[in-house]
Amino acid sequence: MEIKTYFFRGREVLVDGEGEAAEAEALAAFPGAFRFTDPLTGCTGVELPAAAGAPGGQHFLPVPAYFFSHGDAENARLSRVKGLTLWRSRTRFCPACGQELRPHPVENALECPACGQLQFPRIEPCIITLVSRGDEILLLRNIKDREGIYACLAGFVEMGETLEQAVRREVREETGLEIKDIRYAGSQAWPFPDQLMAGFYAEYAGGEIVIQQSEVRDARWFRRDALPPLPRPGSIAWRLINNCLQSGDQ
Ligand SMILES: [Zn+2]
Repeated sequence: MEIKTYFFRGREVLVDGEGEAAEAEALAAFPGAFRFTDPLTGCTGVELPAAAGAPGGQHFLPVPAYFFSHGDAENARLSRVKGLTLWRSRTRFCPACGQELRPHPVENALECPACGQLQFPRIEPCIITLVSRGDEILLLRNIKDREGIYACLAGFVEMGETLEQAVRREVREETGLEIKDIRYAGSQAWPFPDQLMAGFYAEYAGGEIVIQQSEVRDARWFRRDALPPLPRPGSIAWRLINNCLQSGDQ
């Protein structure tokens, strides 16, 4: 397994002129930065402040763009190191008693020396859904989107919910629509900071679109042959849409 050092600045990763993750030698440019070495992969993550500049010949690339140009094994490695580095850099004190945490000798966890509580890396389950109605698919433009991109409907799973219940609730909350035939369609780790996306297809069952204005700028049915700008390849949203278009019968 390849051992690498990744330099993260927010949602960006430092790359060289060829778009590959910067070499460990770049550490010299960031002497005080937080760093974490993952015992499983041997890879190191370095968390850089927002004001950090790129050393000569290197630049910061948004992680989704990095994903676009790399394969599953590299993306999984980077995701793991990114998620764990961020978690470790932000989980320093016991939430029960306030003591400084220390690495657990065996588990991938942090341990409180005073009260013994363990802190594990946090993973937030989310659902993402592509709803179909005959020859049309439902796509939404997020309230934060500035690029005119329409994507699948997504949201966090709430305590006590099944994934399917979360799909049904999110579709109802964000668009006012009812759905049926919810089918699991794969998942993607998105640890920026800590999401696990579970993908689904569903069929329209009833209702008119009424958008949730705090979350959604626009939601529409699009014919499969007349689609708006879509999320970039590498995301599960793109995969859901693309697989749906390829198969033609989802
Ligand atoms: Zn404690």
